[in-house]
Amino acid sequence: MPGQQQQQDEAGNNPIPACIVLDGPIIVGAGPSGLAVAATLQQHSVPFTILERSGDIADLWTNRTYDRLRLHLPKAFCELPHVGFPPDFPTYPTKHDFLRYLHSYASRFAIGPLFGRAVTRAWYDAPASLWRVTTTATATTASAEATSTEYASPWLVVASGENTEVVMPKVKGRDRIAGEALHSSEYRSGERFRGKRVLVVGCGNSGMEMCLDLCEHGAMPFMSVRSGVHVLPREMFGASTFGIAMKLLKWLPVKMVDRFLLLVANMILGDTAKYGLKRPKLGPLEIKNITGKSPVLDVGAWSLIKSGNIKIVPEVESFSGNGARFVDGNEMSFDAVIFATGYRSNVPSWLQDGELFTEDGKPRARCPSNSSWRGPNGLYHVGFSGRGLLGAGADALMTAADIAGRWQETQVAAGANISSV
Ligand SMILES: Cc1cc2nc3c(=O)[nH]c(=O)nc-3n(C[C@H](O)[C@H](O)[C@H](O)COP(=O)(O)OP(=O)(O)OC[C@H]3O[C@@H](n4cnc5c(N)ncnc54)[C@H](O)[C@@H]3O)c2cc1C
Repeated sequence: MPGQQQQQDEAGNNPIPACIVLDGPIIVGAGPSGLAVAATLQQHSVPFTILERSGDIADLWTNRTYDRLRLHLPKAFCELPHVGFPPDFPTYPTKHDFLRYLHSYASRFAIGPLFGRAVTRAWYDAPASLWRVTTTATATTASAEATSTEYASPWLVVASGENTEVVMPKVKGRDRIAGEALHSSEYRSGERFRGKRVLVVGCGNSGMEMCLDLCEHGAMPFMSVRSGVHVLPREMFGASTFGIAMKLLKWLPVKMVDRFLLLVANMILGDTAKYGLKRPKLGPLEIKNITGKSPVLDVGAWSLIKSGNIKIVPEVESFSGNGARFVDGNEMSFDAVIFATGYRSNVPSWLQDGELFTEDGKPRARCPSNSSWRGPNGLYHVGFSGRGLLGAGADALMTAADIAGRWQETQVAAGANISSV
């Protein structure tokens, strides 16, 4: 049963918020990963507490994605454990479909996160064998009294996402951009950019899709490309490229599958380098395995690049006023700049751990077979394998089973203690 411990600060006087000692694990984050591990714990009859900084589940999908977003991979590869997508969902569900699925998933497993609790610190209290987790109430919390609370549990599951903090490039003059400047997480639709010249910095899936969206809304997008990128058709021979790659990987080494994918991609798309999108030396799957960076799965931008409706420009050297100077010396003016420059995790800002995560908030090991999802002292991470929703589901199953085993041991020990009194 949860209990409360009164505490004092280091000087031993001012009382600091009561510590709520929880029976089951603490899960940080109510995104798909947090929900998946909670649902699986529920299946094992293990109690849990989810701490979520925003006011609803799946903050990334609800508040930080563009309107036209669809799952990049077919739905079969994006299902969370135990519940498939409804059969009437399209092969590539929209973000609204996906959110409907997540809400019904949360209610099916009676998952009720504590919203408006931003985790600001988590550390392992070795003498007590507990993880101590401090939260600060965010604006979404109705009650003003709970400004800071401490929770404690023998198990801590980090499910706060690989895409939590926006990454902005360090480019000279970025703070002097005269027109509108925003990160892709703030972009919803190209409607308000109609008739405008928009520079999109970054050529990943988001950058490409925003350029497509801008074109469809009558804007003039320019996409700044710094390094090589693999663009692949979303489908090959009527089947999903990702699905084909997964099947081939069962039989062939990564390098051979990459060679096959690139051969077919070149047949379908032509030479992307001719239009300014040079392919990296390593293949798309090899890069994904090493860096976690996904190839672009084309949903229509490529033909607009070929027709010149989306213009490719080089890396930005500096910004000044409403203009950008590129590394080739050319200068152009723009009405708006959108940074499609990605995200990073926020784990280093709150988790005091030296073993499971690197200093920049990435897991130390990505290989799922070597228990990379589990650290020492009851610490776990879910959704950090660089394999999207598919990886999050797999991590969730392993993490919940591991915790369930340990939780049951504590229950047996507690029962033995009671009967021996
Ligand atoms: C534009 C875009 C499109 C994508 N499309 C796909 C796709 O099609 N297929 C796919 O597999 N993957 C896709 N991804 C990757 C996607 O991020 C993940 O698949 C999925 O959202 C991961 O879920 P998650 O729960 O691990 O992380 P998130 O969805 O990021 O959820 C993390 C949760 O933790 C909360 N949180 C963070 N920090 C704290 C804190 N300190 N305290 C309390 N709560 C906290 C956040 O508010 C959030 O609700 C996409 C990503 C982006 C950005």
